[in-house]
Amino acid sequence: MIRVTGIKKSFHKNEVLKGITLHINKGEVVVIIGPSGSGKSTLLRTMNFLEIPDEGDIFIDNNQIHFDKKSKKRRNDAEICNVRTETGMVFQNFNLFPHMTVLNNVIAGPVNVRKYEKERATEIGRSFLSKVGLSEKEYSYPNELSGGQQQRVAIARALAMEPKVILFDEPTSALDPELVGEVLTVIKRLADEGMTMVIVTHEMDFAKGVGDRIVFMDDGYIMETGSPEEVFNNPKSDRLRQFLYRLT
Ligand code: ADP
Ligand code: MG
Repeated sequence: MIRVTGIKKSFHKNEVLKGITLHINKGEVVVIIGPSGSGKSTLLRTMNFLEIPDEGDIFIDNNQIHFDKKSKKRRNDAEICNVRTETGMVFQNFNLFPHMTVLNNVIAGPVNVRKYEKERATEIGRSFLSKVGLSEKEYSYPNELSGGQQQRVAIARALAMEPKVILFDEPTSALDPELVGEVLTVIKRLADEGMTMVIVTHEMDFAKGVGDRIVFMDDGYIMETGSPEEVFNNPKSDRLRQFLYRLT
């Protein structure tokens, strides 16, 4: 479904991704864990082409996009704009459009990018709002909602584009503790329905419960990868052991 190979990315002299190779199969839920600053967000952003890698390849379905020194200027080329719509992204801070109603947030992509008729987009938008339990909020504005509700709108907005994979970057870390559960429940339900997802999270119990595979990143590398059982109960590297120890 999505495959990244040999991805490198620097910001000025700071090499943040040092050669990342990761394959995600259809229907698989991959959870990325690792210390702050290890490159998790940058990796997700390259998978959505919000950051353009310096080197490497990204395959989405069967589209291969190659990056090298000349690829900086590819950020807005048609090929990238096309494949970008195949990956949905949910951000830590929701990133809803504040001046639009909930429903208009959800249908903006289908209308403006997919070029759907407003009626058809509205039908799709309502079905996904219902899926995240927010049908009654379609005419509300984001600032009238709790953080948990806003994040569920953001999930509905990502789903409404009917992407092949959804990338979640710490979807609950901006939420008050009592609002975390409702968002994790929605994500878990999507996982159970077979949605392909990559999730960066610090919620280790959730990671264990939802992940088919856990990836541990540290210092721009994937240090370890395995089943939740392997990674949490039998970490191989000292770095992972220390990381898990510090969380307990
Ligand atoms: P994580 O999500 O694991 O905390 P990030 O991918 O956000 O890590 O960041 C990894 C490193 O890259 C950090 O040192 C961060 O300061 C740097 N970085 C991330 N984005 C940028 C950017 N747009 N410009 C400069 N440095 C960046
Ligand atoms: Mg991050």
